[in-house]
Amino acid sequence: MRYSLCSYCDCQWKIDRLSCSVCGSKEQGALHYFSGEGEDACRIDLCDTCHHYIKTIDYRSLEESDPSLEDLATLHLDVLAAQKGYRRAVPNPWTA
Ligand SMILES: [Zn+2]
Repeated sequence: MRYSLCSYCDCQWKIDRLSCSVCGSKEQGALHYFSGEGEDACRIDLCDTCHHYIKTIDYRSLEESDPSLEDLATLHLDVLAAQKGYRRAVPNPWTA
């Protein structure tokens, strides 16, 4: 079970691990993810079908950290995803 945080509306929703939560693609070859070194709590899920990405923060790995701060602290992952040609699925309050 995995939850995603929407940095725009601050809501959370359950993600189906086996499909893109943006376009619903179930093409396993089109779904990738990466995370920063030593940043297992946060990962970027990429979809080659719609070229969107979603940042996923694993709350189990966080103790007192605020998810919004965690998002801000991992902005370099957004930069990396953007360099790869992917767009964030939801607007980011800090970069929009
Ligand atoms: Zn997609």
